[in-house]
Amino acid sequence: MLAVVHSYWVHGVEGQPVRVEVKVQTGLPVFTVVGLPAGAVREGKERVFAALAHAGISLPPRRVTVNLAPADLPKSGSGFDLPVAVGLLAASGQIPIEWLEGSAFVGELGLDGSARPIRGAIALAMSCFAEGRKRLFVPLGNAREASAAPGVEIFGVADLGELVAHLRRGDVLRPRAPAAAVRSHAPGPDLREVRGQALAKRALVVAAAGGHSLLMSGLPGAGKTMLARRLPGLLPPLSERESLEVTRVHSVAGLLDAGEPVKTTRPFRAPHHTISAGGLVGGGNPPRPGEISLAHLGVLFLDELPEFGRRVLETLRQPIESGRIRIARVRHSVTFPARFQIVAAMNPCPCGMGGDDCICHDRDVARYRARISGPLLDRLDIHVGTSPVTWRELEGAACGSGRGSDAARTQVLEARRRQAARRGGADAEGASPLNARIPARDLMTACPLAPGASRLLEEGVGRFRLSARAVHRTLRLARTIADLAGEERLGARVVAEALRLRVGFRPG
Ligand SMILES: [Zn+2]
Repeated sequence: MLAVVHSYWVHGVEGQPVRVEVKVQTGLPVFTVVGLPAGAVREGKERVFAALAHAGISLPPRRVTVNLAPADLPKSGSGFDLPVAVGLLAASGQIPIEWLEGSAFVGELGLDGSARPIRGAIALAMSCFAEGRKRLFVPLGNAREASAAPGVEIFGVADLGELVAHLRRGDVLRPRAPAAAVRSHAPGPDLREVRGQALAKRALVVAAAGGHSLLMSGLPGAGKTMLARRLPGLLPPLSERESLEVTRVHSVAGLLDAGEPVKTTRPFRAPHHTISAGGLVGGGNPPRPGEISLAHLGVLFLDELPEFGRRVLETLRQPIESGRIRIARVRHSVTFPARFQIVAAMNPCPCGMGGDDCICHDRDVARYRARISGPLLDRLDIHVGTSPVTWRELEGAACGSGRGSDAARTQVLEARRRQAARRGGADAEGASPLNARIPARDLMTACPLAPGASRLLEEGVGRFRLSARAVHRTLRLARTIADLAGEERLGARVVAEALRLRVGFRPG
């Protein structure tokens, strides 16, 4: 008899549908899996038979063929154990076959019959819904996460015996109530806690409002990391759709926290400078998301930028432009989302002291700065220096003076509303229309310059020898500064501030 069980496996961040066809025939007891199964899928046979035996189910010795269709993609993961077990039971007449239509099954089995969690459960549940299937059976440990995907009834399975009882009687398991995203109300780190640094704080607000990338240079201990950590708190809260996207990437990477099955806060990732290219942009076989995808819709903080491998940094160029990363393998390729905002930081020189206290040789300073490639530096919109804190600022901070994150975020939201009104709704990929992404061809209409402002810009271009790309980035910054001020035309004051944020600090 032939049984067809619907299942899914993780390919990139998508759940790919698979028909698990199980045929049980008379003949020598041989078990064959076809349809490009990778290692873990082939080994599943041992786990399935042990789990069935543990559940007290014996199968008559027969010839069994399992086909994973479509057969053109190599399939990986251990999530096929459960559908293969269900298929075996149905094909050998031990459970009613009509149960299988409209349902899908995923999960790994332990030798003791327990259903073990798999990576990417929420991605699979989202695909299940897109395919129009009503029910998805997942390991109990994945049930809460999977139930955050809308539109599918999620059944959490503790072990194979329980699932078999349910498939025979139909009333053992209950669908899980949809998980409501628990919004964290714990306040993140606040801007008010950073003492002094007026220019860097202003740069952070501008970066948040327009989605601009930021490079901070300054002495160690000047608060660069503190500042960077406060950027997610200045950004608008994640929408429901964005929250699912962030959750999906973390789920596929196997990094979802049991205590927070649905991600509701913007990611902040700070990889160490010793990271490999694969760790940063994603790698492995099957490919897994890297830091830039884990930072999707959030912040990627690169501290000590010149210490990162040059080749590693070069891999960032494509995703910075496109908002995604494509990883090619021999028979297929995978695309991960990677729309992140970069905050980078560096010391003024290798010894970190800078100025009069610096003990570095000029040649070493030049080499240190040259480690960051020109094209990458060009792609970082804002370049600011952080300064040592003065005693007065320390005193002032003790009294809680200065603007906090709440007030700054309100201003950011208002500036973003103006951007959305000007450029229309989200683009095809659901990305909001931020000033940092205004196409070059639209810049002249989006950024009407007042007469004094265009003279100033011309002067700046001459003095700082700005490339065409740098001029475009300055205009986008000016657009955001005007949006923060609620102004439509870009005046001289706005352009002057944009030039200061763009070229006020220039390494090398
Ligand atoms: Zn030095």
